[in-house]
Amino acid sequence: MGKIISISNQKGGVGKTTTAINLAACLCEIGKKVLIVDIDPQGNSGSGLGLEINKITKTTYELLLGECSVSETISKTGIDNLHIIPANINLSGSEVDLLDNERREYKLREALKEIRSEYDFILIDCPPSLGILTINALCASDSVMITLQTEYFALEGLSQLMKIIAMVQTNLNTSLELDGVVLTMYDKRTNLANQVAEDVRNYFQDKVYQTLIPRNIKLSEAPSFGKPINLYDSDGIGSSSYRSLAKEVIGR
Ligand code: ATP
Ligand code: MG
Repeated sequence: MGKIISISNQKGGVGKTTTAINLAACLCEIGKKVLIVDIDPQGNSGSGLGLEINKITKTTYELLLGECSVSETISKTGIDNLHIIPANINLSGSEVDLLDNERREYKLREALKEIRSEYDFILIDCPPSLGILTINALCASDSVMITLQTEYFALEGLSQLMKIIAMVQTNLNTSLELDGVVLTMYDKRTNLANQVAEDVRNYFQDKVYQTLIPRNIKLSEAPSFGKPINLYDSDGIGSSSYRSLAKEVIGR
């Protein structure tokens, strides 16, 4: 059975999508079969892998509404073992469109049931919000990975996220676990980044991954070429750090 991991934080721009794409690609590099599910209307994980998301008519949105089968939504990418269910702006209507739906928290879980055995990992790229889309992701997942930008406000807002995770664990998905915390955009030259990393380790203890993802220009350039970092800059520090994270994820 594939392990399903939500990559989440309601804060915007903290490296969720960058981690989804590059962790997935590095898992593939070591022979794993991976599916990314984009549950963010911004659609960044699809476009970052070179898909023309606005031309795709069978996306996460149609899947959640039961308008198509899961296999119809799966797109191939430039990497053999990496597939994606892309999203686009249509998904922003789902909050309203799912309102009258029974079991609306479980739409993604039910949709992924029939294909999860085909993958080693399914990574869900969450939006920067804690609404029905993130709830769907958490209900569908075995665990949740939180990405934190190693900056002053990193821990701000985290209590709301932890509250939602606890609510889901109590009421909706009792087997959901906290997978771990990934520190991103780390700049080792600054005292602040080191202080933040220490604070996060004090708070989350051994849940924090040893791998620190550095702030690295190649990581921010790669999506505009539709490539993950291991294809765009294979020998760079961005690649080596996501390779190291992939090994840790497999080890957990
Ligand atoms: P959103 O909440 O909007 O979905 P996100 O949490 O998915 O955002 P990303 O899109 O991964 O965050 O990253 C935000 C921006 O920071 C992007 O422009 C991305 O290219 C850049 N970025 C992410 N990680 C790094 C890094 N390690 N080094 C440099 N730039 C990075
Ligand atoms: Mg994103």
